[in-house]
Amino acid sequence: MNLRDYEKILDDAYEKIPDNVKRLSRFEIPKVEIRIESKNTYITNFNKIINTLNRDRRHFIGIFLRKAGTMGEIRGQQLFLKGIYKEKVLNRLIEQYAKQYVLCDICNKPDTEIQREGKKYFLKCTACGAREEIKEK
Ligand SMILES: [Zn+2]
Repeated sequence: MNLRDYEKILDDAYEKIPDNVKRLSRFEIPKVEIRIESKNTYITNFNKIINTLNRDRRHFIGIFLRKAGTMGEIRGQQLFLKGIYKEKVLNRLIEQYAKQYVLCDICNKPDTEIQREGKKYFLKCTACGAREEIKEK
């Protein structure tokens, strides 16, 4: 089999993948872009990140700051954090948030919404219908 045949097989296989699976493979959180200024950190592509997560800004920021153990706020298009943070650390915190509050536990898709019931919060998946209680970690 030559390379061209092989590529054709891959293309054909990709065509056969249902669209909702393709969408899953495209769910990728943008890596943080940061700027350090007078011992503080600005996440300059915060809008892009929050749009991908598709969650309420205040919800994300509340949890994110608590996990980072610092104070911060939205400043224009950016998220300001008190203190100096490495990209790697911030990316990991965002991934943790996504795992807990965005991605479905059952099918791992991001097509979810947070539902509140009294003091409990649930992650409802519109792709597979699962509804799992969100456990604070
Ligand atoms: Zn699901």
